[in-house]
Amino acid sequence: MKDGVIAEIGDLAGAAATLTVDAAGLIALPGLVDLHTHLREPGREDAETVETGTQAAARGGYTAVHAMANTSPVADTAGVVEQVWRLGQEHGHCDVQPVGAVTSGLEGRQLAELGAMADSAARVRVFSDDGKCVSDAVLMRRALEYVKAFDGVVAQHAQEPRLTEGAQLNEGEVSGRLGLSGWPAVAEEAIIARDCLLAAHVGSRLHVCHVSTSGSVEIIRWAKSKGWDVTAEVTPHHLLLTDSRAESSPVGPYNPIYKVNPPLRTEEDVRALREALADGTIDCVATDHAPHPVEDKETEWSVAAMGMIGLETALSVVQEAMVETGLLDWAGVADRMSARPARIGRLAGHGHPIEVGAPANITLYDPSPRALVDPSAMASRSRNTPYEGMTLPGRVVATFLRGRPTVLEGKLV
Ligand SMILES: [Zn+2]
Repeated sequence: MKDGVIAEIGDLAGAAATLTVDAAGLIALPGLVDLHTHLREPGREDAETVETGTQAAARGGYTAVHAMANTSPVADTAGVVEQVWRLGQEHGHCDVQPVGAVTSGLEGRQLAELGAMADSAARVRVFSDDGKCVSDAVLMRRALEYVKAFDGVVAQHAQEPRLTEGAQLNEGEVSGRLGLSGWPAVAEEAIIARDCLLAAHVGSRLHVCHVSTSGSVEIIRWAKSKGWDVTAEVTPHHLLLTDSRAESSPVGPYNPIYKVNPPLRTEEDVRALREALADGTIDCVATDHAPHPVEDKETEWSVAAMGMIGLETALSVVQEAMVETGLLDWAGVADRMSARPARIGRLAGHGHPIEVGAPANITLYDPSPRALVDPSAMASRSRNTPYEGMTLPGRVVATFLRGRPTVLEGKLV
């Protein structure tokens, strides 16, 4: 690596090097790209900051993350997205690409300044009210039409609001037994179906956030078969965990560590999501890294905040769910966790194959060790990992951002 790009590949005997990493037995992946990270700054620096969130990202093998817009203030103007983008540049642990809100204040009433955010220094291309659904079909149509001007994409958090009022976990047998109000699959699927039709109608790009049900997979498969410009992501937790965790888990029953939106679903859904990621119906893995302070999670289920952290465990979970099961090889992992998310987000400097002349964004990963997940060892400011008490495979050994190490020997540089 030289001047931020890959200069040479092969036998380096005799090559001049300022830093040598013994990568025997390691897998080299293009730096991972997350389409869906909550960095919480500005506004909730008690949960995460751009600095701690990007440190967690680097530890997880990421060289770029998209920072969701549901901050306080909301990232709905050029000023706020530029502020977040600059913070990412200053800290330098990974690139931070701000996501712009679709509607002002995420209120679902009028479009935010999409054009101004696209033209800003942050060059926003992904727009989302994530955390909330753009449920108004007219606003969604207008947003899809508007972003075409600058090759943008609307990333929808698909949740029909009236069908999910007060919802606590997946509507099914477990919610019935626990007496908690259910979040039905149809509330996700109805919005995805509507938005695929809208995107096709106006000829625009739609991205579906955190797909969680087998029915959603079928709808997206159908939309893609029509040639419509629809892409989708799945989270690591929806690839590995089910709603049964609410009843029994390594950290006890009724533990709100498993409360997340959309909720953990069933075995059948997990199977469909894995197959869809393997066959490309679902384009990529996105973490939906959602840090919350202890007091917002260690409380009664019904009042606990929704969300889980995920940047530092994503690659291990994907190895467990997809590689160990034979569904995806490492080239497939590189595609689903780097190339495709970079393409969806229009991040020109990321997601390139490891070849001479490409930006030197590289993750070195050791797939062999298995270890107990230790929340206290994480770089994130928050501790709400759903994998506490579980053993997961693999370890990120080193991460390079344009040739500069951000992680070496598993530790932040
Ligand atoms: Zn969401």
